[in-house]
Amino acid sequence: MLNRVKQFRGNFPTVHLVAVSACVLILGLTLLLLPSQEVEATRGDLPTAPPTAPLVSTESTISSKKTTSTETVIKTNPAQASAVTPSIPEDNWVEYTVGNGDNLTSMFKKAGLTPRDVYHVAAAGKETKAFTRLFPGQTLSFVIENGKLSKLKHIESKLKYTLLYTDANSAFQINSVIRTPEVRQQFTAGTIKDSLFLAGEEAGLSSKKIMELASIFGWDVDFVLDIRKNDDFSLIYEEHYLDGEKIGEGPIVAAQFTNRGNKFTALRYTNTEGDSSYYTPEGYSMRKAFLRSPVDFARISSRFSLSRKHPVLNRIRAHKGVDYAARTGTPIKVAGEGKITFRGRKGGFGNVVIVQHGSNITTLYAHMSNFKRGQRVGTRVKQGQVIGFVGQTGLASGPHLHYEFRVNGVHKNPLTVKLPQASPIAKAERSNFTETASSLLAQLETHQATTLAQSNR
Ligand SMILES: [Zn+2]
Repeated sequence: MLNRVKQFRGNFPTVHLVAVSACVLILGLTLLLLPSQEVEATRGDLPTAPPTAPLVSTESTISSKKTTSTETVIKTNPAQASAVTPSIPEDNWVEYTVGNGDNLTSMFKKAGLTPRDVYHVAAAGKETKAFTRLFPGQTLSFVIENGKLSKLKHIESKLKYTLLYTDANSAFQINSVIRTPEVRQQFTAGTIKDSLFLAGEEAGLSSKKIMELASIFGWDVDFVLDIRKNDDFSLIYEEHYLDGEKIGEGPIVAAQFTNRGNKFTALRYTNTEGDSSYYTPEGYSMRKAFLRSPVDFARISSRFSLSRKHPVLNRIRAHKGVDYAARTGTPIKVAGEGKITFRGRKGGFGNVVIVQHGSNITTLYAHMSNFKRGQRVGTRVKQGQVIGFVGQTGLASGPHLHYEFRVNGVHKNPLTVKLPQASPIAKAERSNFTETASSLLAQLETHQATTLAQSNR
């Protein structure tokens, strides 16, 4: 008879759970955040930007935002913005901040204008959409002359505003001004004494940047288990400036992490399709063909061991996999791309899915409470795709995933097995990549040498 021991989860420190959760969560956030930062990126002709960095051009950013052909888009350098804007210094601007629930009508009322004025503005053309999409915190500024609206300015963000003004014929004209921040590159480095987080803070990194760094190297380094004192890191990342003021951060463009003497290097490359990713200097994706862990928000509750006392059977038995304790129902993600070769009941393993990857690797997921609907033996699955849910079917003392990794039928420790590389950079991208990579690597090494020289002085 199977005993279900309730205290299963209580035997292990929760610190790991929290740390792993944070890493995974931020990894997700980071992936979400990166593309939008690309859009903010500016031209490569600024002195501090790398000459080969394939940033999204200002032109493409604007054209994608342009809604009609009549919209006038003025491209300016930050320094020239005020010169190009058709505003006269003596204008009597009155500014209102958009609050919750505000719309153009309520804003106009605040400024002493009527619904009729709203109608006139709205009827001025499609481009006035910019004025009707108001969000709390934005500002709307008015110039009212003799009770008539003569200018209206909607400041959407530090990077974009739309101006409406009356021309010589008293007709409304509209200009959208999109400013491009100056991109500066920032280098920093650190050595771990207590934790990556503390060392990162000491190096001046935001917590978001620290997590970004961890997620880049997370395929090679387990930031919960592998980190040692004197591990070190260095990186170049982008900072965005407007009028000399820092307004945001861009992505990490190059980074190195030394873990227990093993040096890992990651270089950011944007391919001709506009997709950015991190690669080794040799052009291998930092992303591996296999996830290190098939469950998020889980902690390792039992490791790979050839002589472990089985918690239910209470006798020495090899544990040829890794157990991840997690709540029943937690999604289980397939570690790599492959094909389901088994899906069903398997003795003490309970509900099991086995996936074949290429010709020689299989992964096994046991004790599932449920399988993912719509899949069957033969279904092709992509890395990270959910194949089932954590449970405790079969011989299990609590809800957990038992995960096995086999190479040519031989059980390997999933935590230490050398994971196969993801496919290298596409042939067509090779020469571009090589150019970018060598430039980034040279910059990184120059900064490192300078820092070293300063610290030895
Ligand atoms: Zn197990």
